[in-house]
Formats: sequence, C-alpha cells, structure tokens
Amino acid sequence: MAKIAINIATGSLQQQEIIVGIDLGTTNSLVAIIHPESKKPVALKEHNSSSLVPSVIHFGKNANITVGNEAKQYLVSDPANTIFSVKRLMGKTYNDVKNNSASLAYKIIDDEYKLVKVQVGNIFYSPVELSSLILKELKKQAEHILKTPVSKAVITVPAYFNDAQRQATRDAGKLAGLDVLRIINEPTAASLAYGFGTSSNSSKGGEQAKTIAVYDLGGGTFDISILNINGGIFEVLSTNGDTYLGGDDFDAAVVDYWLTENTFAGEISTHRQILRLKAEEAKKYLSSNELFKTVYEEKEISISRENFEAVIKPIVERTIASCKNALKDAGLKKNEVDEIVMVGGSTRVPLVKEMVSAFFEKRLNDTVDPDEVVALGAAIQADILAGNTTDMLLLDITPLSLGLETMGGLMDVLLPRNSKIPARASRQYTTYKDGQSGMKIAVYQGERDMVKDNRRLAEFNLTGIPGMPAGMPKVEISFLINADGILVVNAKELRSGVEQSIEVKPQYGLTDEDVEKMLLDSMEHAKEDMDLRALTEAKTEGEQLLQTTEKFLQKNFDNLTRTEISETSLAMQALQLSLDMNDKNLIQTKTEELNDISRPYAERIMDYAVSKAMAGKKI
Ligand code: ADP
Ligand code: MG
Repeated sequence: MAKIAINIATGSLQQQEIIVGIDLGTTNSLVAIIHPESKKPVALKEHNSSSLVPSVIHFGKNANITVGNEAKQYLVSDPANTIFSVKRLMGKTYNDVKNNSASLAYKIIDDEYKLVKVQVGNIFYSPVELSSLILKELKKQAEHILKTPVSKAVITVPAYFNDAQRQATRDAGKLAGLDVLRIINEPTAASLAYGFGTSSNSSKGGEQAKTIAVYDLGGGTFDISILNINGGIFEVLSTNGDTYLGGDDFDAAVVDYWLTENTFAGEISTHRQILRLKAEEAKKYLSSNELFKTVYEEKEISISRENFEAVIKPIVERTIASCKNALKDAGLKKNEVDEIVMVGGSTRVPLVKEMVSAFFEKRLNDTVDPDEVVALGAAIQADILAGNTTDMLLLDITPLSLGLETMGGLMDVLLPRNSKIPARASRQYTTYKDGQSGMKIAVYQGERDMVKDNRRLAEFNLTGIPGMPAGMPKVEISFLINADGILVVNAKELRSGVEQSIEVKPQYGLTDEDVEKMLLDSMEHAKEDMDLRALTEAKTEGEQLLQTTEKFLQKNFDNLTRTEISETSLAMQALQLSLDMNDKNLIQTKTEELNDISRPYAERIMDYAVSKAMAGKKI
C-alpha cells in the first residue's frame, strides 16, 4: 500500500481548514483549538463565560431543544424532559444500565437485549442522537466564536470505552455534521496537553519511555489509567475506576451533612434537591476557602473545610483503592510511575490532591486547568493530524471504513477509517433461521449506513454450519489488514470449527477523488442514513420478535391461558401493522408492548433461550 499523506487520506478539500479537539464529557463538554498565532492550545469560550458546556439537553414545547447552560436549569424544574449523563448510555443495552436507571429522572426503554433508548414524550432517542445534539451545539458555538465553519474534529473517549462505544461516538459526530478524524483516549489527550509524548518537548523526556498515571475525577465518573509512552506511541497498560463515583457524590455528602446538622420543616426530598445546588457551590468555594456560609429557609447553614473533608474522605478513599488495582493490573509498583496527571473538575478539591500525591508518593502535574486539559490535548492531536506539527506526517492508514453487511442491508463497521495499519478486528455473529447451514459474508468499504451505498469488495459463503436453532451458532469474523494493505477476512463457526477466508485489496482501483467523494456523500446523507438505520434496526427487531413469538405460541399453546393468547395475537397484529406502515416510533412502541405481554409467560414457561438468542447480531 502506498504511503498516504494524512491530509489527503482524511479527505480535506481545503488544506487550511481548522480541526477542533472536543472533550465530550458526562457532565461537561468543550472545544479547543491550537491558536493560530501563539500555536498553543486554547479552549474556546464566549466573552466572560466559561469554556464548559454542560452535557444537558432539554426538550421543550413545540420541539424546542436547548443544550448546555440553558438546559441545565430544567434539571430541577422539568426533569422528565431534561436529559443528562448520556455518555453513560453510549453503546449500552438496557441490561448494562438497568441497575442504575433509578438515578435517572428520564425514562429509558426496558427491553433487555436492545440498545438503550431514551423516551421523551412519545419519541425514542438513541444515545447517539442525543450526543449528536450536544456536538451540534459545540460546533455551533465554535463557529460563532471562530467565525468560520467547523467540520473536522478529534473527539475524546474514556480509555475503557469498547468498540461499540467508540463507534457510537463517531456516529454522533457524523450526525452532528462533524468529520471525526480520530477518536482518542482521554488520558492520552491529557498527557499530550502536559507535553508528554510529543517530541517537541524532549526536555520533559518525550523521547524516552515513560509511565504515566492519569487520575480523572469528573462529575459522576472516576477513572484511573496507567499509560506507557514510547517514541510517541501511547499504550494503555490498565484502567480502573467507577462509572458512578464523582463530584456529585461530594455534593450529596454535603447535603447529608446539612440535613443531619439542621432540621427543616416539610419534605426531605424537596430540601435535598434545592440543597444540592448550594452544596456544589459550597464544595467549589471550599476548594480555595476555609468556611462556607449561606442562608436556607431563614436559617444560617455552614460547612467548614475540615468538616467537608471529613465527609468526603471515604469517597476519595474509594478512588485510591482503584489506583491500587490499576497498578496491580499493570504489574507496576508505585515508584515505577514517572508522572501523575490530574484531570476533571473534582481534582480541584485540595484533599483529593493531597491523598493522590500521598498515595503515589510523588508531586502531581496539576498546572493545566483540569476542566480543559482533555480538550487541549485533543486539539494538539488534531494539529498533529493536520500535519502542522511535523513537516508532513506520513502514516499508513485505512482511508475508508471496512465492514460487513448485516440484517436489513446495514453496514457493520469492523475497522473504522483512519485505523493505523497493520490492524485487526473481530466480532461475533449468529444465524437468524433455524438450521441455517450457510452464511453469506459480504465485505464493504465506505462510510454510509446502508451497504448498497458503499463499495462492495468481496463476498463468500461460509458453508457447513451444523444444524442448530437460530441464534445458537457463534461465527467469529475477523478482519486483518497487513502492512501491504491486503485485507484478510476470516469467518469461523466456533462451536464446530468450520472456517473459511478470503483476501482482498481494498485500495485497488480507488483514487483520492473517490475517497473524498465517498466522505462528502456520507456527511451529506448523515441524517437520512441514521434515520434509515434506526428504522431498519427497529424493523429487524420487530420482525424477529414476531417470528419468535409465533414459534413460541405454537410450541406452548397448551400452557397459555386464553387471555394470554388473545392479548398476544392482538399485540402481534398491531406490531405487524406498524411494520407495514414503516413508522419507527410506532414499531418500537408496538415491539415493546408485545414484549411486555409475552415476557411474564415466557419467563414462567422458562423457554427463554429463544429470546436470549436474539442478543447477537445476525447475518
Ligand atoms: P466530566 O468529565 O464528567 O464531564 P468535569 O471534569 O467537568 O466532569 O467535572 C465536573 C465536576 O467538577 C462537577 O462535580 C463539579 O462540581 C466539579 N468541580 C468544578 N469546579 C470545582 C471546584 N472548584 N472545586 C471542586 N469541584 C469542582
Ligand atoms: Mg472528563
């Protein structure tokens, strides 16, 4: 494969176009760029305001959607229509998050094996759509500040994000009209912002191998990552943390303290809600003062730094326990860590700094603003990609995504574009028909959601799968693209061992103009593609449910009551009708209704294997 200059490979038509770095956070998000004159990374902000945009979306009357500071105010006054912490739902099924859904004021649909959707009124939103609304707002604000269109970005994600979560983040960017050049790990970005791993900063030892611990305590999440940097390459040695631990818990601890120290008339839960905001104010104030006082319900309430530290200490101790585990998993001792980088608004709390520093027995890197450090690092990465930091960065990369056709003609990406080669990825699939003995493996290249809009590279049949019920076979498909740009696609049924593979050259006959055109097309059709994908997925799920229910009814007819049978067939008819109407929201509603009706007796009869089998992706 020829060397591709990265700016061509990324499809940029205007070479000078700015690439932004985006920290898409659970609590707050922000955008940074490399300042054209100072060449230093800066966070974008309007005059006299913070660079932080709360990751909150409010759905008001008449489809009036607001994002950020304005939306945050509705968390108290209109919680059912105000969506926060969307990042936690990215790439997750209901099963993944159900134990924590009680803490959410908004409704998520409860079909165990499906990707989570958030219900607002009678519309279902995917976490991808919701995140795209935040990204759209960030893009809009950035364009307003920079007075130029912004369409390319590097977006950060936690180091522990899996493929599905990363892909969901890419999709959200695309839907927001952003060409996502690279998804990078938040701890990597933070390290870049401190100059670790960039050769321009060899005085800090960027050239030699270094071990870095990145401690990130945000609003609702904590993570610690141990990284190794060698010759500019970052490797994640281990990650640990708690996705339900953060500054919000400090606020709650302060509220509890006030509620035990004082007595107020009326509902405790109402006090809690109002005191929460005061508690956050107190916490921030105590990061640089000794005593916080305020008046609530005509009473003076207060908290000292000492008392604050006493109530939050157990929470901080839990983060230290995670640090210990991360070190253990990385196979390192404390003294083998060279640098500790502090990230996230909650690391402003002096006790946090003290305890982390005491644990690692080392001075901390905390000079860069902890709210901005991740976005600043993303901006540095963006600048490297733009080719501004080295004369011309030549990398072997895949200029377009590589993937497979799945049910309904959808594209399932295994290797996203811009993957460094050599690269490898694999995923498991299953069958959708009983006794299905063959599986068509169709390989495509491109960015569109439907394979028919992409470039077909190859197709073969995996044959000889032994007869099994639908959903039982486990077919692992792996993509391996070697240094010469040759893609080997291998399919193996894991239970029986039957296996087949094929070789293709994705770059064959593909010009730079073709790549650019395919990228532009995908941006242009992003919204329409996303809608079609959502509809196709809903239809596939609906149709599958009809099939399994039908089969279930035939098999268990004698064990069901007459009411169960008549209710089920009514719900099946309604679902079939919605499928004929091609209405996504209606299909989802009717699928859920049929599920609600059949779940109790399906569980009773314990023939649940059928519906469980629906968890995997089907070809
Ligand atoms: P995330 O990465 O989850 O989006 P952030 O890094 O933006 O989160 O952190 C938000 C948290 O930081 C909130 O809980 C907020 O109250 C807390 N925070 C912000 N400033 C301070 C401060 N000065 N002192 C203590 N906590 C702070
Ligand atoms: Mg963060």
